Amino acid sequence: MTIKIEGGIVLGFDGEKHRIIRDGVVVFDENQIIHVGKSYPGEVDEKVDAKGKLVTPGFINTHCHAHTPLSPHHLTVDISLDPYYQHAGIGMHIARRGATREPRTEEESSKIKKLSLVKRLLSGTTTYVEVGGGDEELVRLTEEIGIRGYIAPGYKSASWVFDEEGRFGYEWDEEKGWKGLDEAVQFIERHHGSVNDRVRGMLYPAQVDTCTPDLFEATREKADKLGVGIQTHVGQRLIEFQEIVRRHLKTPVQFLHSTGLLGPDFIAGHCIFASGHSRTSWPGHGDQRLLAETGSSIAYCPVVFTRNAVAMESFGRNMRLGVNMTIGTDNYPQDIVNEMRWASMLSKVVDFDRTSASSAETFNAVTLNASKALRRTDIGCLQKGAKPDIVILDLQTTRIAPVYDPIKSMVNAATGDNVERVYCDGRLLVDQGRVIGVDETKLLAEVQEIADNDWKRVSDWDYAERSLKEYAPLSYEEWAPE
Ligand SMILES: [Zn+2]
Repeated sequence: MTIKIEGGIVLGFDGEKHRIIRDGVVVFDENQIIHVGKSYPGEVDEKVDAKGKLVTPGFINTHCHAHTPLSPHHLTVDISLDPYYQHAGIGMHIARRGATREPRTEEESSKIKKLSLVKRLLSGTTTYVEVGGGDEELVRLTEEIGIRGYIAPGYKSASWVFDEEGRFGYEWDEEKGWKGLDEAVQFIERHHGSVNDRVRGMLYPAQVDTCTPDLFEATREKADKLGVGIQTHVGQRLIEFQEIVRRHLKTPVQFLHSTGLLGPDFIAGHCIFASGHSRTSWPGHGDQRLLAETGSSIAYCPVVFTRNAVAMESFGRNMRLGVNMTIGTDNYPQDIVNEMRWASMLSKVVDFDRTSASSAETFNAVTLNASKALRRTDIGCLQKGAKPDIVILDLQTTRIAPVYDPIKSMVNAATGDNVERVYCDGRLLVDQGRVIGVDETKLLAEVQEIADNDWKRVSDWDYAERSLKEYAPLSYEEWAPE
């Protein structure tokens, strides 16, 4: 079946860069894009009117966690995490200390993951890179929802632990790390290229501070053998930066490089605390040069880190230093359009420079740069032969119009709610801002119920004997006047 999207502002790809085609057409079938241009003389089965709308390649979200529509991250907003240098990723573990809660059922976990995929899709993500939530159920949900994903279970040689006083440390279990790597390899062998090649694998040793050098080296070896990429969390916390310097006399990026991990197939999750960041006291831009020389990529998730009172220094500067910069949504909200705006704006503030991280550069991060990070040329661009992953975003809304430059309007004024249609692999998955075949109202109600129960149980957890509301106070106290 051939479909022609016509009348919109098409962001075509000329083989080198995106170009604006006003009143353009995109023609595609279930396998590929057939034509991008001003007109198409051939017959088609269906025409879609995109007048006043932006027609772009589907966005690529290079760092997101499927379990996080519901996680302790919701509880740690606005609260002090001073002893952990403000980082929620560690601070939230306080809430888990001594936790006696029952694990979620498989059904609960599946609903949470499904909601995460729905959120991604609704804001125009057609390809996601999952971090940590990779399992059989996520493969099944990815098939059901119709999105494209990079999936594999994570593994590590150590866990973060906290003693009775809340002091942070590591509990090592190297065997567990090796077993995890084996399982991830088997998972990738089972699923890489499955679901009409919408599912691919990627190795994910969890964090730079929780894996041994040997495990990273073995990961590189396996990735080369399997022909898949690698991602890990690196430079996400000041404590982690200091810990790696203490252990190895190297920055986290230098340390990873010494294990052979860096390369054109490597995505550094976050990489905020790196050389040149004012809080690290590590001078120069050696880390950025290493990443650039090896062709490595960074997945920046600005919204989540802004909540942690920290910004990359900076997204724009890293681009100028030659690092392949991409963007992810991490935990919540999972709105990649919103995330673009934060990446661009924070960069301008940090650099004190209006030209830093332009709208076009930021848009490239979720399209061309991201496809490069995944070593692909068939996604992230609208050109003949590319995968039919297409987003139609309404610009003629009160929120956005009038429009001079469609990309600047999108990056500066749009949110995921302005995404009207999403096609992935040629299939219409989102229409009028709703995921086809998913009862969103029902799913939201179900996950809200799981969340309410989960957070209620937090009251039973043993964290310094404080109640949930003492630990995570509401913005205003509840009131029930007569
Ligand atoms: Zn993450």
